[in-house]
Amino acid sequence: LPVVAIVGRPNVGKSTLFNRIINQRLAIVEDLPGVTRDRNYAPAEWMGHKFDLIDTGGITWEDGKIEEEIRAQAEIAIDEADVIVFLTSVDNHVTDLDERIAKLLYRTKKPVILAVNKADNPEQRQDIYDFYSLGFGDPIPISGSHGTGIGDLLDEINAHLPKDADQVDDDTIAFSVIGRPNVGKSSIVNKLLGEDRVIVANQEGTTRDAIDTPFISKAGDKFRLIDTAGIRRRGKVYEKTEKYSVMRAQGAIERSDVVLLVLDASTGIREQDKHVAGYAHEAGRGIIIVVNKWDLPKKDSQSAKDFERVIRQEFQYLDYAPILFVSAKTGQRLDQIPELVKRVYKNLTQRIQSSVLNDLLIEASKLVPTPMVRGKRLRVYYMTQVKSNPPTFVVFVNDPELMHFSYQRFLTNQLRQNFDFEGTPIKIIARKRK
Ligand code: GDP
Repeated sequence: LPVVAIVGRPNVGKSTLFNRIINQRLAIVEDLPGVTRDRNYAPAEWMGHKFDLIDTGGITWEDGKIEEEIRAQAEIAIDEADVIVFLTSVDNHVTDLDERIAKLLYRTKKPVILAVNKADNPEQRQDIYDFYSLGFGDPIPISGSHGTGIGDLLDEINAHLPKDADQVDDDTIAFSVIGRPNVGKSSIVNKLLGEDRVIVANQEGTTRDAIDTPFISKAGDKFRLIDTAGIRRRGKVYEKTEKYSVMRAQGAIERSDVVLLVLDASTGIREQDKHVAGYAHEAGRGIIIVVNKWDLPKKDSQSAKDFERVIRQEFQYLDYAPILFVSAKTGQRLDQIPELVKRVYKNLTQRIQSSVLNDLLIEASKLVPTPMVRGKRLRVYYMTQVKSNPPTFVVFVNDPELMHFSYQRFLTNQLRQNFDFEGTPIKIIARKRK
């Protein structure tokens, strides 16, 4: 998907605009303990055109260096976006910082759309003429808090999105390699691409061609490897921030079918591993846990089992993810990655007939009685798969309130026992039968 970045000095309203644009899409994510709620990267859509939106303002320096932050924002936008929204605000007129951002953005050939926020009333909309001096043509007056002008801005964004952006090759599996710094992501990626034939080195056109690498595995399957922070573009100022690597991981997760979560066998599991894992789980992607540096720990026959036990304990919500122990250094088991990604993708995209699902419901009802709440028993009438990738099932019931978490869990387990859903999350939604 094309990428749209919002850039601007502090307090012009970047996150308000970001939330306005992505609004409906975010409401559907489920809550998960330990996962930070603030997002800087999210899918968006306007008039049927899909794109990914980045709020570069999420990248802040702990020591509050505005200068660095502004430069990082501009670099991210210039490197990664197809369209840049330069946001400023009418209340301070054109500031020194606005001018400095403008200077950085002059360096790009990418379209820059100038939007002036906080133009809440007609009088303030008059003041936007000052902003012509920034040199990006007609400023678009918007009000992030009132929601006015957002449609015009989105029309303008659509007009600048790359024309062929909607073309996606259906039998190509998109996957990404995520994890905290130094777990060995780049080493794994380099080995993977070194051993498999890279079919497109550097295509002309959009930025994403440069950071995503299509390749064909030895078995002849088509993959697209989605790059994340630091894998092949080290040295930029923004990469020093943890927030940025989290944001890039989010972006890569959004664009992937399957995610490889890399852990480091030599350091064990850390807090940051859990954040990254939480995002992948929430996004509903296929997940494979890859334990790298397996050449380092001293091993006896128990150690893989021991490590696995710790992983299952620490990532209970990822109980469906297969675990692969590898070494990017020796190459151990790396050749199993493409096959495993393919298998998980197959599970993720499978569709199960309603008749089969309803046989399963009947069998399930014999195993465990449905829950009872305040004297009222849950009745389950019918189940159907409404979506794949991730597999999503709707069960029609007498009263959705009676669908207890434990029963939902029971149904999920029944699905897992009867079909191969290894590596994929399963969503079950209870609806009232009309
Ligand atoms: P990234 O930040 O996740 O991309 O991590 P890198 O790929 O840059 O690896 C970080 C460090 O770990 C480097 O010094 C690598 O040489 C080392 N490393 C990566 N994979 C392995 C492995 O399987 N075994 C060992 N012993 N070292 C590894």
